[in-house]
Amino acid sequence: MLELNDVDTAYGAVPMLRNVVMSVQAGELVCLLGPNGAGKTTTFMTVCGVVRAQRGKVSVMGKDIAVLGTENLASLGVGLVPEGRRLFPGLTVLENLRLGYDAVSARGPNFEPQLEKMCALFPRIRERLRQLAGTLSGGEQAMVALARALIGEPKLVIMDEPSLGLSPKLIGEYFEITQEIHRRGTTILLIEQNAEMGLSIADRGYVLVKGKVAQEGPAKELLSSKVAKSLYL
Ligand code: ATP
Repeated sequence: MLELNDVDTAYGAVPMLRNVVMSVQAGELVCLLGPNGAGKTTTFMTVCGVVRAQRGKVSVMGKDIAVLGTENLASLGVGLVPEGRRLFPGLTVLENLRLGYDAVSARGPNFEPQLEKMCALFPRIRERLRQLAGTLSGGEQAMVALARALIGEPKLVIMDEPSLGLSPKLIGEYFEITQEIHRRGTTILLIEQNAEMGLSIADRGYVLVKGKVAQEGPAKELLSSKVAKSLYL
């Protein structure tokens, strides 16, 4: 569903990603780990086509992102949860969810059942539908950002550090929901700093260090790997 083939990126003259080879197959939950500044968000931006790869190729759902364009990801079945949630603070929760839905299907009759599914998955959202998104707590915002990505029933969800800023209790809840979404058949790329949490629910993982993939493998192996521990964990 997602492939980075020997990808380099740079910010001006400063190289960032180098020779990144990564893939996410249908049905997998893959975790991309790495310390601050390793290039995780750059990878997210590159996959979304916001940052252009200087070299190599990025394919999403079998299509070259450079040709496809970021704006077509949603209708192709890709849901995005960007770092910092990026809700529209001056719109209500309901309006934020409607935008997530409309990005996938032009206003159609099926919004209500999808909204109902999201309220069932995130009960707190139901109580907050008329509230401005900017006035929600951090935990509520995290749930709305995830619901906005899920409301169009994506096949692939890409999440950039979704647990950042959440309390330990909420992180636990958030990871349980992520695991549940995966169990229901959604493919997930989870970009995380919380390595133990991320790997505990992932099938496979990649450790990014200074813009390069320093290690990759099954999540269980990475969790117990001395090399991964010395690199990052
Ligand atoms: P964190 O976990 O702290 O969010 P990260 O692994 O997501 O880190 P990136 O946000 O990808 O790291 O940043 C990697 C490096 O690229 C950092 O040194 C950052 O300052 C730099 N960088 C990111 N965006 C830009 C930009 N638009 N212009 C110039 N440099 C940038």
